[in-house]
Amino acid sequence: MERSIGRIFNKLQMKNILITGGAGFIGSHLIKRFVKNYPNYNIYNVDSLTYAGNLNNLKEIENKKNYNFFKIDINNHDEIIKLFKSKKISNVIHLAAESHVDKSIESSYEFAKTNVLGTLSLLEACRKTWTEPYQNNIFYHISTDEVYGSLGLNGSFNEDSKYDPNSPYSASKASSDHFVRAYHKTHNLPILISNCSNNYGPSQHKEKLIPNILNSLIKGEKIPIYGNGKNIRDWLFVDDHCDAIELIFEKGLMGETYNIGGGYEISNIELAKLIIKIFDEKNLNPVGFSEKHIHFVDDRAGHDFRYAIDNSKINKELGWRPKTNFNDGINETINWYLKKL
Ligand code: NAD
Repeated sequence: MERSIGRIFNKLQMKNILITGGAGFIGSHLIKRFVKNYPNYNIYNVDSLTYAGNLNNLKEIENKKNYNFFKIDINNHDEIIKLFKSKKISNVIHLAAESHVDKSIESSYEFAKTNVLGTLSLLEACRKTWTEPYQNNIFYHISTDEVYGSLGLNGSFNEDSKYDPNSPYSASKASSDHFVRAYHKTHNLPILISNCSNNYGPSQHKEKLIPNILNSLIKGEKIPIYGNGKNIRDWLFVDDHCDAIELIFEKGLMGETYNIGGGYEISNIELAKLIIKIFDEKNLNPVGFSEKHIHFVDDRAGHDFRYAIDNSKINKELGWRPKTNFNDGINETINWYLKKL
């Protein structure tokens, strides 16, 4: 048994863990890890399989005894309640979301529906089926650093940074964070929140920046880069994010927020050139050969200039730091896409 201030995490106590969005990019990595690391827990994957969900991401564990998949929309509250009751769901790790900023600009409604109301549907299910003192319960909400808005060239976001979302996506995630915290304050629901920087790795949908660059390179098509390409992101390898989620799930302090960042900042244009360099080396092309595919397009509306995360809290309190060197992570990622795309 391990002790953290405010709660006891008993690895031997039976848990029925609902992971939402498990057919998506981060969710599928997390489910594979939990199914393997917690053979005595039941893992229930709830995913409505939007265009972003792909059960092929989970092939290697689909027949495991402690894994079950349910195709349910989190907004279908009756189905969610039925599942909570029939499977005695004791813990939730909530990742299901509409996650693409560009889509949220074109049409925001689905973002409010899934990210805000869907989160509320799950919180209500916890409130209705769990009983105080919630000894074996956790509602863990996975969120983004984008809720904090945009930084200039200096500084980084910590857990006290003010919420200042600029896109409909980040506004919907910010709203869901507030609901989660409010259910803790109002109903005493045992919650955890983490806000993470940009993830990269295998199995990400090709609408996102890194798979999009690789997809364009493989097809010999234009690589669209927004504006002047100088916007900066802080990249984290998806396995490192899952490490942090597992640690927070076990040892996080109830009611707390943890920021998670990769500590590897790079502008979009530098990132594209780096990926092109590695791609050209692997294909024995002359240096810079594929840079001709870079194509600057009109900037994204409300485009945040820079994100950066201050990892001090999770590092000091839980001992987490990213393990994967960016060069290793990006090579592993590129190799995966070259095989799959
Ligand atoms: P993703 O788009 O790859 O996957 C989302 C999954 O949710 C899909 O499988 C989809 O089918 C499912 N889903 C969508 N709407 C649903 C609904 N109404 N009911 C049930 N399932 C539904 O997203 P991702 O990149 O894996 O992100 C997962 C979570 O992590 C999101 O909450 C996102 O905000 C957060 N996050 C992502 C990043 C990142 O860089 N990808 C960074 C920080 C935080």
